[in-house]
Amino acid sequence: MAKVVVVGSSNTDMVVKSNHLPVPGETILGGEFLMNPGGKGANQAVAARRLGAEVVFVARVGDDIFGRESVQGFGKEKINTDFIAVDAENPSGVAVIMVDEKGENCIAVASGANHALSAGDVDKAVVQIESASVLLMQLESPLATVEHAAALGAKKGKCVILNPAPAQSVSDELLANLDFITPNETEAEILTGIKVTDQESAQRAAEVLRGKGVGTVVVTLGSRGAYVQSEALSVLVPARNVDAVDTTAAGDTFNGALAVGLADGLSIEAAVGFANQAAAISVTRMGAQSSAPFLNELEL
Ligand code: ADP
Repeated sequence: MAKVVVVGSSNTDMVVKSNHLPVPGETILGGEFLMNPGGKGANQAVAARRLGAEVVFVARVGDDIFGRESVQGFGKEKINTDFIAVDAENPSGVAVIMVDEKGENCIAVASGANHALSAGDVDKAVVQIESASVLLMQLESPLATVEHAAALGAKKGKCVILNPAPAQSVSDELLANLDFITPNETEAEILTGIKVTDQESAQRAAEVLRGKGVGTVVVTLGSRGAYVQSEALSVLVPARNVDAVDTTAAGDTFNGALAVGLADGLSIEAAVGFANQAAAISVTRMGAQSSAPFLNELEL
């Protein structure tokens, strides 16, 4: 089985849906409460596992009910949880989300233990990284940890993928260790200073990132699909045409699937097509992790 190591975040999303968003000082009654597992690392780990890869998740949670529930959830998905550290000092990551009836939201994230994920936590999983094909990371973990993991993955000759979300700039040293980077339009602009709105601007942004040593740049373009640039490729891989109902975690499903496609030995273009297909299914369903498809739902 293809093996993917995901280094990243795990959060519990606490959502209150009400008819309007409270203003400062206001208390509103009558909302509906939902608690969902989230965090980009966790979402991508679940997406990759459901698509058939062996997945090891390197993460950090608090010694609390949210951390225990999250780890139990990963266990149910048959994700390897041996390298999820339990932090004695920091609570589990939590996102408090308020949504009104128009779908507008306000989100506050308390990263908690995610921000204590360390280079040492990554090093503990070195044997797993050595036996994996792909190492997948995001930016909800400390940059120094992401940089360390990328350098380790590159040194071990693994395919290193960074999903640079949430948007922030990163060091050239990190970029030089990446085989793949997968920004959306906003993230591509933050990384390069080029406003990405279409294939032509995505191409220019990709050139900047490739100039800094990234092997392949995949700019996700929502319902248009993904623009891919590598040494031999410059191509828009079109999205599937679907009726989107909730695009939450579309990017996470895309990245989990891309990792599986590459770990399975698909060509870059085929792996991006596979990722487009998985993400298209996820946007037809509500939720983050819950919307990630299983392998038997994809046409292969
Ligand atoms: P993010 O969710 O990170 O902002 P995008 O909006 O670019 O990222 O979406 C990621 C991927 O999800 C796209 O490349 C595409 O494959 C898929 N996707 C997103 N929105 C749609 C849609 N409306 N229809 C079909 N596929 C979609």
